[in-house]
Amino acid sequence: MTKQTKRGDATRDVLRFTFRHWRNEPRYVALVAGTIMMSTLADVFMPVFAGRLVDAIAAGEGNREAALNAALMAFAIMTGLGLLMIVMRHLAFYGIVELTLRIMGRVGRDAFARVQRFSTDWHANSFAGSTVRKITRGMWALDLMHDTLLLALLPSLTVLAGSMIVLGLRWPIMGVVIGLSSLAYIVMTGLLAMHYVAPAARLANSWDTRMGGTLADALSCNPVVKAFGAEIREDARLTRVVGKWQSRTRRLWQRGTNSGTTQFTALLGIRVAIIGTAIWLWWNNRATPGDLAYVLTTYFVIHGYLRDVGMHINNLRRSVNDMEELVAITGERIGVLDRTGAGAIHISRGEVEFDRVTFHYAGHDTPLYTDLSLTIRAGERVGLVGPSGSGKTTLVKLIQRLYDVNDGEIRIDGQNIADVSQASLRSQIAIVQQEPILFHRTLAENIAYARPGASMEEIERAARLANAHEFITSLPKGYATLVGERGIKLSGGERQRVAIARAFLADAPILILDEATSALDSELEVQIQQAMERLMVGRTSIVIAHRLSTVRSLDRILVFEKGRIVEEGNHDSLYRKGGLYRRLCEHQGLDFSDHRSRELAAE
Ligand code: ADP
Repeated sequence: MTKQTKRGDATRDVLRFTFRHWRNEPRYVALVAGTIMMSTLADVFMPVFAGRLVDAIAAGEGNREAALNAALMAFAIMTGLGLLMIVMRHLAFYGIVELTLRIMGRVGRDAFARVQRFSTDWHANSFAGSTVRKITRGMWALDLMHDTLLLALLPSLTVLAGSMIVLGLRWPIMGVVIGLSSLAYIVMTGLLAMHYVAPAARLANSWDTRMGGTLADALSCNPVVKAFGAEIREDARLTRVVGKWQSRTRRLWQRGTNSGTTQFTALLGIRVAIIGTAIWLWWNNRATPGDLAYVLTTYFVIHGYLRDVGMHINNLRRSVNDMEELVAITGERIGVLDRTGAGAIHISRGEVEFDRVTFHYAGHDTPLYTDLSLTIRAGERVGLVGPSGSGKTTLVKLIQRLYDVNDGEIRIDGQNIADVSQASLRSQIAIVQQEPILFHRTLAENIAYARPGASMEEIERAARLANAHEFITSLPKGYATLVGERGIKLSGGERQRVAIARAFLADAPILILDEATSALDSELEVQIQQAMERLMVGRTSIVIAHRLSTVRSLDRILVFEKGRIVEEGNHDSLYRKGGLYRRLCEHQGLDFSDHRSRELAAE
């Protein structure tokens, strides 16, 4: 596809997107369009009566009385038209306020809903700051687009068409001059906007988005920046991005100015043509002084609208550019979709089964898992160990269906997880993440996230079971403490226990524990270990173990290597076997063999 057609497609997509939303609000669109056109037509007829007024006064030498009557009549009609214009315009503006707010609200909600459902990979590859910017910028662009299309371009076109017809009926030559020159002007302005200004705007916008992303990235990683005293480095990084943004935006603004000057030159040409034609008509005795007043007034009305047409087309162009990224989001594929009519999963026992599963990460040369089969019995406690990158985390991501498998099936209690709704599946799986993420909300709200509407007693009970109650009540605001963005105000161990409390409250039949890699002091480790043991009771539990000391008590250990399960069994049998598991244990400086324990006891 060439660059040119891509650009055209993007513009078409944005307009189609806007009109699709208009179709949902036909009453408001009709109200705004109808009232604004009536208000504009009042403007078109104003010059007719201005001309009559001048003619009445010019003819007033003979019968001043009759002239006054005619003049007053024209004057009254002009005032009436002015009033009509004001009332209609008022209605149009009221209508557009409602129309725009409804559509902006819907667009914002839709975009958020989609983005939330985008795949884990999409989120990993996007800056949250940039996405926020794309959505809010797009919403505001919609406001500008509505004002431009409905309150500006529509009236301008009505005035041009109306004046052309009204003047053309009197002097066809004048209709032709106005029609042709307006058309030429609009086409020229449109071409300039789309092919000269828009490409520069697109580039400037992408740098504006990148600037937002750079800011958000550095700010959200502020602890790292601080730790390395890298503020100056980050300043320099932003300076580079700002420099690029400036040069791109400068080019955009300069092109805007050039295009404006060209438009004003063209307008001067149109003025010369219209007034020249009027003088020619007068010279040939085809126009009275009143006619001249009529043409001049019409010209000034047209001039006002045409001058603004340039600005409106520029605004239209700008709003299209600003909406492109938002519209692209709404057109993007949601990675993992529910099948149509997918029902809820029913888990009574909690048996998890991988049946010849093949899974291939996009962008990798080879599949991570090939024909992987595995059964985790109901209530079994399984540990996943293996070197980093061996495929432990991916296994639990597949159970949550964060990705679809390429081949084979994953079943829970005999139901293929690809056939049930994702929300029901995930509500049956409680997770304690390696680096638990908390909302910037109170501790109570964070714990209750697992079960909305949980009572304070339930929250406290869960916190007690997670060994979190004590530290929470020792905080000045207790359960009402705000935890800072992503939970930054809590220590790693505290966040971990809040996450465990959440899992207690979720009370799901399947549990995934992703053990923290960071070292905790031994007392804390015992507390967390205790809480986890308590949590596992009566649930199918899968533990991604980084510290092998924690997997000893589990029913079964699966040892992963390069996406394959190379050993399985309990700790003692695996250790005795002397394979990869034993090497991993020895690498961590752990030696749990009974043989060694006996030796230690003897010493
Ligand atoms: P572990 O949990 O054992 O450290 P993972 O399951 O996270 O291993 O990763 C297994 C392999 O898949 C690694 O080679 C890793 O680089 C790759 N991988 C993990 N996540 C993604 C992703 N989102 N996109 C592409 N490759 C990934």
